Amino acid sequence: MANKITQKTLSFSQSVNMMADRAFKVLDMDPGVAAAIKSCDSILQVNFPVTIRGRIEVFTGWRATHSTHRLPSKGGIRYATMVDQDEVEALAALMTYKCAIVDVPFGGSKGGLAIDPSRYSREEMQLITRRFARELIEKGFLSPATNVPAPDMGTGEREMAWIADTYKQLHPEDINYSACVTGKPLAHGGVRGRMEATGRGVVYVIREFFRHPQDVNAAGLDGGPGGKRIIIQGLGNVGYHAARLLQEEDEARIIAIVERDGAIINEAGLPVEKLKEYIIQNGGVKGFPDGKYIENGNTILEMECDILIPAAMEGQITEENAGRISARLIIEAANGPITFAADEILRAKGIPILPDAYVNAGGVTVSYFEWIRNLSHIRFGRMGRRFDEMRGEHLITAIESATQGTTQEWLKNKIIHGADELDLVRSGLDDTMRMAYQELSSTLHEYDAITDFRTAAYVIAIKKIARSYFDIGVN
Ligand code: NAD
Repeated sequence: MANKITQKTLSFSQSVNMMADRAFKVLDMDPGVAAAIKSCDSILQVNFPVTIRGRIEVFTGWRATHSTHRLPSKGGIRYATMVDQDEVEALAALMTYKCAIVDVPFGGSKGGLAIDPSRYSREEMQLITRRFARELIEKGFLSPATNVPAPDMGTGEREMAWIADTYKQLHPEDINYSACVTGKPLAHGGVRGRMEATGRGVVYVIREFFRHPQDVNAAGLDGGPGGKRIIIQGLGNVGYHAARLLQEEDEARIIAIVERDGAIINEAGLPVEKLKEYIIQNGGVKGFPDGKYIENGNTILEMECDILIPAAMEGQITEENAGRISARLIIEAANGPITFAADEILRAKGIPILPDAYVNAGGVTVSYFEWIRNLSHIRFGRMGRRFDEMRGEHLITAIESATQGTTQEWLKNKIIHGADELDLVRSGLDDTMRMAYQELSSTLHEYDAITDFRTAAYVIAIKKIARSYFDIGVN
């Protein structure tokens, strides 16, 4: 009997490598080049002591640099109890492929600290984060030119501000110090729109998908995002912004939200904003008045729906539940939510999956914008906005005097509006996600040997990465 590959025999990083292997096979890539692309360039593990409430505690963290064909290497820092080296390596590899897919000129990296942030006060978290940052900086794993972290699960603006400040204290002579990390608060060099970027990017992905009738038909869907029945797992940073925008701007129906303590369902559509508030107040979804509570939340992933968006964490759809998934389309907003074995089952069932390495690339895309803003030391739109507005006013005056008419107020406002930073960031994000989808879809339809979006995404990434290896050579 053939040796069936099950998730039990595969770690997260092996699962990512197996997915990449499908693309290497399609491209008939030299095994040496494939090995060079797949392997993690370097990995740092640090164990450092911090005095907490009068006692010394030792913390363990990692930073993996998967690739350096473009610099800096880029990727978030995760704070969670279950973080380990394999997870960080897998996430760093995904960053390499992700940056290539959306043409963000960075290598791939990722960091993690094994910690339960809820056990520590704000002051203690600051001490721990600053000490972790110092370890990374002193060992060459954090700087604006070589390795730039960002937020991920369990971290946010607050941690990024502490990291940036630690770097500044150690390297005050580095004029680009604020580019050493992205996802910072606005007052510390952050860019408008970074917080919502990954979730908004997910929404741009869905909108572009519905502009491709061949792909929409293949999923057994029609029309646009409006009215679609959507299930989301994880109402954190990514899931919340995606859910909110899909509901507010696209009039999609969020029929279920799966969280750590269970799921809430409401066929008429859940009030996303209210549910988020409820979770913040109560620590979970249980007891939320506007929907039915289901204790075993993960069974809701199997509920019939148009679009399933896993936006929580890796390893949620496995060979155990994949056979029962009945969504028409899966949008992988989290990193690695579907294991390799589950992916094989879903492929056989013919459920299209838009893969993580493309879908959640909105975060690194806007991080790229933030990094550029920090290097140029100027807010996007600062030089041209008023000039554009003046031009718009002149244009209206010219049209009105030529036609002897008046322009409607709303149109006038649209024409004279000069783009501010948020407009430009959103426009750049939308363009990035659209262009990448078009390349993804055309690659899927171009190769007979490619039957799924994930393999198409890896083929695109690997071709670009291999090109850069061939151009500069390996030494
Ligand atoms: P987050 O910590 O803000 O949110 C995660 C949410 O999922 C939380 O609400 C948590 O309660 C919930 N959750 C955790 N485990 C769960 C489980 N087993 N079942 C149901 N719900 C669960 O994290 P985030 O930043 O939104 O990241 C979510 C995923 O997206 C991760 O895989 C992350 O790597 C990926 N991602 C995040 C970004 C970003 O910009 N934040 C960018 C790219 C990818």
